This record gives sequence, C-alpha cells and structure tokens, in this order.
Amino acid sequence: MSSDIDIFPLQDWLPTGGKPLVIAGPCSAESEMQLLRTAREIATIPAVKVFRAGIWKPRTRPGEFEGVGEEGLRWLEEVKKQTGLLTAVEVAKPAHVELALKHNVDILWLGARTVVNPFNVQEIADAIKGHDVPVMVKNPLNPDVKLWLGAIERIHAVGIRKIIAIHRGFHYFEKSPFRNAPMWEIPIELKSILLSVPIIIDPSHICGQRDLLQPVAQKALDLEMDGLIIESHFDPGHALTDAAQQITPKELEELLGKLVSRRKSGNIDFQNKLESLRTEIDKLDGELLQILGKRMEIIDEIGLYKKENDITILQMKRWAGIIRDRLSIGTHLGLGEGFLKKLLNVIHKESLQRQTDIFMQADRKKTKV
Ligand code: PEP
Ligand code: MN
Repeated sequence: MSSDIDIFPLQDWLPTGGKPLVIAGPCSAESEMQLLRTAREIATIPAVKVFRAGIWKPRTRPGEFEGVGEEGLRWLEEVKKQTGLLTAVEVAKPAHVELALKHNVDILWLGARTVVNPFNVQEIADAIKGHDVPVMVKNPLNPDVKLWLGAIERIHAVGIRKIIAIHRGFHYFEKSPFRNAPMWEIPIELKSILLSVPIIIDPSHICGQRDLLQPVAQKALDLEMDGLIIESHFDPGHALTDAAQQITPKELEELLGKLVSRRKSGNIDFQNKLESLRTEIDKLDGELLQILGKRMEIIDEIGLYKKENDITILQMKRWAGIIRDRLSIGTHLGLGEGFLKKLLNVIHKESLQRQTDIFMQADRKKTKV
C-alpha cells in the first residue's frame, strides 16, 4: 500500500497551542438567526477554532430538508465577521466548491457519501485544483481504508497540502449502540499508512445520539487522535437534521471540560517499567510465531500423509473436537470465547490452505511424470 504523503503540519496552518483541534457547529445551516445565535454561543468556548455547517445536505429521500444553499454561505460570512471563527462546509459537487470559495469559506470537507465514489472525489479535486484551501476528507460509509486513502491521495494530487482526515464511523449491519460503528482499527490503519495526516473524530455521526458522545470523544483523545468535530445547535430538539445527536453550545463546553488529556509518556520509572513489559511482549510474540511455524510444519506433514493415502483434507469431526477442546483450555486461561473462535478459525483456514497447496503440488508432479 502507498506510503506517507507530504503535507503541512496542522499546527503550522491551524494552531491550537498543541491541544486537540475542536470544530463545532450545527449539522445544517437552517436560518440566519439559528446560525448566528449558535455561532455566537460557540465562539465563547476558547477551544473551538472552526465553525462547521452543512449548506447542501445529502438526504436519503427527496423531499427532506436538503439545505439552504448559497444563501447560507452569506450567513457564514457574517458568522466569520462577528465571531472570528474559521468556517467549514461540506462540498459534494464542483459547483459547491466554486460557491464556497466565492463566499470565502475557509475549509472544505468531503462527506462520507461522496468519498465512496472516486468519480465524485476526482471531480471535486479538479474543482479545488489551483486554490490554497484546506480540505477535510471523511471516511467512506463502508469500512474500506483504501477508498479513504484514495480520496486523500486525489486531493493531495491536485496540490492541496493542508489536509485532515475525519473519522465518522462506518455502516455496520450488526446490532450496535452506534449510528455508525467506530471500528477504531480503521483510522488507526490509516494513521499507520499516512503518518503525517492528522485525524479528527466526529463523535456526532459515530454516536447518532448525544448520550454516547462523551466516551467516544474521550476514546478519540486516548488513541492520540488530533481533534474533534462535534455538531452543536442552540436548540437541538428542533434541528432540521440530526436532531438526536446535536448538543447545545453549553453542553459542548461541558463535554470538552470533562475530557481528560492523558500524557503521551511518563517519568523515567514509568518508561523503564513500560520498556521491560514491552521486551517481554516482544519475546512472547517471537515464541508464539515459532510455535505457529512448528504447527504449520506438522500440518504440511499431515497434508502429505493424507495425500499419499488418498484421504480428504477437511475432517469435520476432528475440527469440531479441536474447537471444543481449545475453547475449554483457552477460556480457562482467561481468553474470551469470541477471540478464541476467531483465532482458531484463522489458524484452521491457513492449515486447510497449506494442505490444499500440497495436494495440488503433488497432482502437478504426478501429471509431469
Ligand atoms: C455531516 O457532517 O453533517 C454529514 C452529512 O456527515 P457524513 O458525511 O459523515 O454523514
Ligand atoms: Mn449531521
């Protein structure tokens, strides 16, 4: 997979004094009064640097509130004038880019529904080309790190060097308290590929309801994410979109006040202890891999033996016995049943694959002879 890209450090173009970046504002701009009142209240919270508002809303069905359009951009200019906050808007079409830039929007973002489609992303990237405007890229609806990465690369390829990734969770069909499952492993994977791209978390769209926002925002900081984007409305109960997940500016201030920022590293005793625990982990991982390697060698031997004796690879009875036995041992050792099942399945799949390869190799040899 592709490696890191050259972008400007966040602190160089959007300084937050080393603190997490906080972006807040309503899901949608609804009226001049709603926007200005919300913005004035948000502007009293020093941590908030950027005001967000959706001007064009991607709605599932026609006839729902689809945003106020260009008029809202004029209100946002007023927000900037009155509060000094920077402004951020979602762009889903080249025409949106043109209008947002005409009205001096400071930061553009690509929404989750746009990022799923590389054609749309490319069209937007082409419209942005030649402008010095920061761009935030939300993750796509589906948990596909490559689509997210690809969208960031398309924006980067047209010369944008002020880029932020936004993690807003993923569509997930199993039951979950979240509107969009956080699947933290995906933003962590993105971070490991694009080391220099800051990632901020969107607890509002992950949670879908305000009660869950605090722990998700805290988790973001605990995972060393670079900031938060949170939906805030002066009267969330009457919001035209995403009413259940928005909070008042006062609630936002309380939420931010309760966040604990943990230190990235501790004193020397802490470091030494951590180092010695990590050394132990390194040693155990080495042993685990050696044991797995040995197990696979024996699997190969079994494969050959089965082939020589014309016995089928998959022996369901044996496999069911293994699962029963290993689950019992593993759970007694304090390992979770779900984890054990997943682990045993991965090992079994690899074992079957190796035996299949051995069968195929032996068949090929036979036909050559
Ligand atoms: C939004 O930020 O209001 C929005 C529509 O988000 P997403 O693209 O993450 O669904
Ligand atoms: Mn929203």
